[in-house]
Amino acid sequence: MAVKTILSYPQASHILTAQSEALAVNESQTDEIVLDLKDTLRATPNGVGLAAPQIGYLKRIFVLNKDYISNDLAEDSLFLKTKDQMLVFINPKIITQKGEVFEEEGCLSVPGEFIKIKRAKQIKVRAYNELGMQFYEKFKGLASRAIQQEIDHLNGILILNYTQGAG
Ligand SMILES: [Zn+2]
Repeated sequence: MAVKTILSYPQASHILTAQSEALAVNESQTDEIVLDLKDTLRATPNGVGLAAPQIGYLKRIFVLNKDYISNDLAEDSLFLKTKDQMLVFINPKIITQKGEVFEEEGCLSVPGEFIKIKRAKQIKVRAYNELGMQFYEKFKGLASRAIQQEIDHLNGILILNYTQGAG
């Protein structure tokens, strides 16, 4: 476990624009990636979320810092019951989305850029936690927006892609 350097565009564009792989059940590297993501996000001021490719692992995992998004969780969210500040999403998938918002967005891997991006307002996500348990959670607000950006990272998409009319 370690605080890693957050890769940025354009220096690390070959990694940041690559497609990440799903994790297998009990994949041995999972614990290391989860710990590195948590340590690195915890050490990053104003870091809402961080995806594995941003620290050099092309694997489908991201973490969110609950401190920034606790108001965007559902009332019955399991995340409200955990003491952990870092929320872990493994092999995440958006299964439903509702509404639209068009707001400015930044990214730790694209320093200094803020781009207006159209996102779904509310989403429902299916993912696995670090114990291998599947969960379903609903998100709104900044959490919804952050998750959509993190899943973009897993698909090699950066906020810059949206300036070319892709969004
Ligand atoms: Zn980002």
